[in-house]
Amino acid sequence: MLLKNVEITYISPCLADPGKIRLKAALSDDISEVMPYINATVKNAIYNHDAPNITLSKEFRLITLYPREMTMIKALNTTDAWQVIDWLQELINDTYNRREEIEPAYQRKRRPHPLQLYSWLPRVNCKKCGEQSCLAFAVLLFSGQQELKRCKLLFSEKYREQLQVLLELTQALGY
Ligand code: SF4
Repeated sequence: MLLKNVEITYISPCLADPGKIRLKAALSDDISEVMPYINATVKNAIYNHDAPNITLSKEFRLITLYPREMTMIKALNTTDAWQVIDWLQELINDTYNRREEIEPAYQRKRRPHPLQLYSWLPRVNCKKCGEQSCLAFAVLLFSGQQELKRCKLLFSEKYREQLQVLLELTQALGY
């Protein structure tokens, strides 16, 4: 077993979705070693080998794993968060146990889709970036004709986690 224990250290309402919660948790063990194996086996994982960190989604919830810490946004409540943590712990330990059967992947797997970018934008269509909608902005962001910094809303505290994901995604696109 690689990861023996997870302890939630911080919980607050999810700023982008107040009906849900965001949290941080401490990991009892360094999970860096298993990240390339998770990247190889989990669809839609976003892996940054240099950091290192890996971002996964479980339905609408978004989880980022660091060597000794994890964050989760959009969990329904504490019970839901613990169920996702149990799932993650099993994923980490099962992948670690099977690592000799898995070819590790150190690179990001594929280019994000424009709709993936759109899903992490504020989606309020305020037009302050100069585009008619967040979807139009996402399409231009995908093709390198727009920049994240033009969406000022993203740089507010409310969208802090979403900005981090978008920074990872646009980095994966090479921008
Ligand atoms: S500024 Fe941001 S929130 Fe407003 S329309 Fe553009 S992308 Fe959407």
